[in-house]
Amino acid sequence: MSAAGKVRRLAAITLAAGAATTVVASGAANAWNGDRTNDVRHAIHGGKARNVILLIGDGMGDSEITIARNYSQGAAGRLNMDRLPLTGAYTTYALQKAHPDLPDYVTDSAASGTGWATGRKSYNGAISVTPDGKPQQTVLELAKRAGFRTGDVTTAELTDATPAVLSAHVTDRSCQGPTDMKACPANAKENGGAGSIAEQQVQTGADVYLGGGRARYGQTVQAGQFKGRTVIDQAKAAGYNVVTDVNGLQSARPGRDGRLLGLFSDGNMPQEWTGPLARTGGTEPSRCAPNAQFSGPHLTQMASKALDVLDGQTRGSRKGFFLQIEGASIDKRDHSADPCGQIGETVEFDRAVKLAMDYARRHPDTLVVTTADHGHTSQIIPLDAQSPGQTATLVTDEGAQMKINYATNPAGQSQEHTGTQVRIAAQGPQAANVVGVTDQTELFTTLTRALGVRH
Ligand SMILES: [Zn+2]
Repeated sequence: MSAAGKVRRLAAITLAAGAATTVVASGAANAWNGDRTNDVRHAIHGGKARNVILLIGDGMGDSEITIARNYSQGAAGRLNMDRLPLTGAYTTYALQKAHPDLPDYVTDSAASGTGWATGRKSYNGAISVTPDGKPQQTVLELAKRAGFRTGDVTTAELTDATPAVLSAHVTDRSCQGPTDMKACPANAKENGGAGSIAEQQVQTGADVYLGGGRARYGQTVQAGQFKGRTVIDQAKAAGYNVVTDVNGLQSARPGRDGRLLGLFSDGNMPQEWTGPLARTGGTEPSRCAPNAQFSGPHLTQMASKALDVLDGQTRGSRKGFFLQIEGASIDKRDHSADPCGQIGETVEFDRAVKLAMDYARRHPDTLVVTTADHGHTSQIIPLDAQSPGQTATLVTDEGAQMKINYATNPAGQSQEHTGTQVRIAAQGPQAANVVGVTDQTELFTTLTRALGVRH
């Protein structure tokens, strides 16, 4: 090891020790902290929450969390999400479309999101409809009807599955804009349906929508009052302040009665980090780098704005807000066997978790839940393993090598989700309901019970 390497390693060890001290002081989970009985007891609160912040790391299985932790905090370090006081695991399976009495063991984001958004399991591709295509009320719709303010933030297209399950009902996730309706004829406006995901999001009327997907919203409405105009026009008519870049986001002041729609890229938003893609036979040991093409805003900037707007809109009123924040591209970079891409997204997502935890510290009547929608491909394997799949070796911040394997599909094809249970962790009112092994449909019950909304 070079002298610089030694210094870096020492610095990393000092940092890790510093982190350990902080953890002990704050009483969060740690093996060397001895008896946690009182910490856990103090973390348990029933009752109602004024606010609910739900953070979804798309495709963020235990393996993806561990990879990001090893790289950025060190094996002995802890991410922000690791410091939530109550943790459990939940099952994610979907139902088979043709045989809904049988499970589909590997879910997609649509079926998975339908589970926590509506409390009902469905088939892969379903956006908050039952296996027979019937719309089910979502937690966001129920919260809004009960007088809560609502927000939906993502790094994907706003019309992608995870943001869509809260705010739309279509029989296929591909029906994102008014000219994308081939797979959902019954939902199309021209056939008397409620329209595409983008149109329905405007009609649902969450107070804050922030993400990508400008091209979907730029499509032309095919029927009804806004026929011949774009969904962006429809949104403006519905009172949305539409912004398209970081400056617009930061200067937006929607006020108490205004709504905010941020569309920051035509498709999904750019990734935070870049590095070598995994390949057959492996890579040289490499470091990750910030993405030079990144054109913001970061997930944390969107999350922070959403919290500001919703907090301002609910100040002085009895009801708070429901906000979902998705780190979408952990999944998308995992599909592409891009370890640095997925780590950068996980690290940024984890910073958004910290924002939520900081908000909850100032507003203890806030339920914060962090979870994933499904597991994914990436695995940490021994450096000398001869994987038949694609691998990349990274040099972590603490100076060690970590070999990451992607082997759910041959090289050149998209890597796949996996059917494993995933982590769910929480703090605040009703957080104890995530402890143990639950199913993601039970998260719907936890959220609606915390908000005190009936379904
Ligand atoms: Zn995926």
